[in-house]
Amino acid sequence: MNEPALILSKIERIYNRGSDAELPVLKGVDLELNRGETVALLAPSGAGKSTLLHIAGLLDTPDSGAVYVAGTKLTGASDRVRTRARRQMIGFVYQFHHLLPEFTAGENVILPQLACGVPKASARARALDLLDRVGVAGRFDHRPADLSGGEQQRVAFCRALANRPSVLLADEPTGNLDPATADKVFAAMMDMVHETGLAALIATHNLELAGRMDRTLRISGGNII
Ligand code: ADP
Repeated sequence: MNEPALILSKIERIYNRGSDAELPVLKGVDLELNRGETVALLAPSGAGKSTLLHIAGLLDTPDSGAVYVAGTKLTGASDRVRTRARRQMIGFVYQFHHLLPEFTAGENVILPQLACGVPKASARARALDLLDRVGVAGRFDHRPADLSGGEQQRVAFCRALANRPSVLLADEPTGNLDPATADKVFAAMMDMVHETGLAALIATHNLELAGRMDRTLRISGGNII
């Protein structure tokens, strides 16, 4: 149980842009994320941050190298195994909440659990507990359009945690919020991450937020420095 929550080993990703134009974005990235650790990923736009997060989250496949989540190698695994791992072991938060607009806040946190076979009553209880812990339980029956930006991101964060993942991946999770709201949402996220022992890799442009995490990694020239 002491293996890192996430290992990226010698990850290479080259985009093909037409017949003879190749763009190597990641050139052998190595990264280990331990349980309970929060790591900031700092990189200028275009450096490959989203590519790295998508590969770590099994949404994209590297051209070479391997991804291990909680000790299991998932590069080369079948689509079925990767999909299950993505649902159960990895939580995502994006810059924009991407909540399902026709469902309530509560339902947005319940649905991923139902997809993993959790009984409805337990899924509802867990959703209520998560939303309560980040201060938005009162918005349980409201649709995303009726929530503030900060509330939407709190709900999106609860959705990411719904299935008790080992790894949280976030791409500018507070980038769309005003500084005061970003600060509060970030603090709520960090409290929960520390309580749950989750490993978190959080891309941000915000140096102050990065400074509140355990470590900062930078991507430059296709590698982590
Ligand atoms: P970041 O998230 O750091 O801004 P990305 O990972 O989105 O960077 O992109 C890194 C580089 O790869 C950029 O130059 C981008 O234009 C290019 N890129 C991203 N996705 C693709 C794709 N599907 N096909 C071709 N080039 C891509």
